[in-house]
Amino acid sequence: MSDREIDGNPEMNNIAVFVCSHIFENAMPILYACRDGGEWQFLCGEPHGNNELPRVIGLAHILDRDKSLSDIINLPDGFEAGRDFAGAEWKVSKMR
Ligand SMILES: [Zn+2]
Repeated sequence: MSDREIDGNPEMNNIAVFVCSHIFENAMPILYACRDGGEWQFLCGEPHGNNELPRVIGLAHILDRDKSLSDIINLPDGFEAGRDFAGAEWKVSKMR
């Protein structure tokens, strides 16, 4: 099994995930991720204005951009992961 397979299912690489505009534009590193109801979110960790609309991007695309995301890609549903800076260790916790 390659590390690109998610939950042992290569098809998962093709799923769409939600990101903030900073991640979409590759302006900020991904510092927060959560999996809620089967939907992934990858955010920069900074506050976002009310006008912020989630963008949709292919999971494989951001995995290519940041290999360290493979550490959390098997995160169970209902869990979140955060880190202080790109390259820091992910801290995983259960969402409220
Ligand atoms: Zn952002």
